Amino acid sequence: MKNVQFSAASLAAQAMGWIDPVTKAVVPPIHMASTYLRDEDNTYSSSGRVYARADNPTFDQAEATLAALEGGPKALIFSSGMSAASACFLALSPGDHVVVPKIMYWALRNWLATFATHWGLKVDFVDAESNDAIAAAVQPGRTKLVWLETPANPTWGVSDIAAVAEMAHKAGALLGVDSTVATPVLTRPLELGADIVMHSATKYLNGHSDIIAGALVTAREDAYWTRLRTIRAQLGTILGQTEAWLLMRGMRTLFPRVQWACRSAQSLAERFAAHPMIAEVLYPGLPSFAGHAAAARQMKGGFGGMLSVRVKGGERAAIATAARVGLWKRATSLGGVESLIEHRASIEGSGTPCPPDLLRLSVGVEDAGDLHDDLDQALRRAHNA
Ligand SMILES: *Cc1c(COP(=O)(O)O)cnc(C)c1O
Repeated sequence: MKNVQFSAASLAAQAMGWIDPVTKAVVPPIHMASTYLRDEDNTYSSSGRVYARADNPTFDQAEATLAALEGGPKALIFSSGMSAASACFLALSPGDHVVVPKIMYWALRNWLATFATHWGLKVDFVDAESNDAIAAAVQPGRTKLVWLETPANPTWGVSDIAAVAEMAHKAGALLGVDSTVATPVLTRPLELGADIVMHSATKYLNGHSDIIAGALVTAREDAYWTRLRTIRAQLGTILGQTEAWLLMRGMRTLFPRVQWACRSAQSLAERFAAHPMIAEVLYPGLPSFAGHAAAARQMKGGFGGMLSVRVKGGERAAIATAARVGLWKRATSLGGVESLIEHRASIEGSGTPCPPDLLRLSVGVEDAGDLHDDLDQALRRAHNA
């Protein structure tokens, strides 16, 4: 099924149409082997496989499918989103300058401010919703990587991928995009000029809250790609075989899950925007949202399954609301079939740019009316408590 006439949704549903050549099974086996037979001529040329810290045949289908969905030549799956993202920075050299968002996934921001900085990267944190702020921070010849996350946790600000790609390239830098929230269903950053797309595959790609995984797709199979692959093999930040199989199983339903979540999130955002106990809804699909125009240009078919609400009555009311939900589950993470609610400022701790009255909502595939009614009753009971 190498034909380009099949849409991404069809490729995902059938995992590239792979059929086991020997058994005709429509689902691949899990290869548990950690090592591979060397040929009699002392090479590994008949299989290309040596040792499972470099790769595993169970990765092949997930990597090929993800590369096709993102429109890149090659994908690499990792043991976590964090190991995938950090590899992009570790593939640079101490002394290199990078430009990253002020508001982004908390743990990666923390790693950049601590480990990456101690290791020798010069890290500038900027307002990544502003092309001017990025342009002012990029230093031609010195900046090696510009990083975006769009829409960005937990306030869903939108960055202009195409404009930033142009700025980065003019300065001789690469552009990396954490596209975990947009997914390849809604945005294909490589087509917009990005050089690297990163996913926490723990989230939408897997979609069932049962593995931790990460992924990278690059625009070219070049020296930088080889460094990423080498870092994965040397540090052993590979995915387990069973987890790789679960990731591929989850990706088959990526399109219907994301499309359903987008529809529900859009309807919840519109309904809660008019709610008497909510001060503000943050969602790229609302025309009143600052990043809406940029989102409408680079997100196709929906604005994602993530939104946040700012609760009237501040932090106390927000935490009291989260305490009173039934269908929504109070938990961190996102992108699973079950809807999650989280008071982000509590988990991010001191120094967080997250407003204390904010509840982050990850919309799953339950009935949208049920999700509305459950959060509505929680808001009312918290208000009256
Ligand atoms: C979860 C997440 C990460 C980190 O991924 P892990 O799989 O938890 O290591 C990075 N970026 C975003 C946007 C995320 O949501």
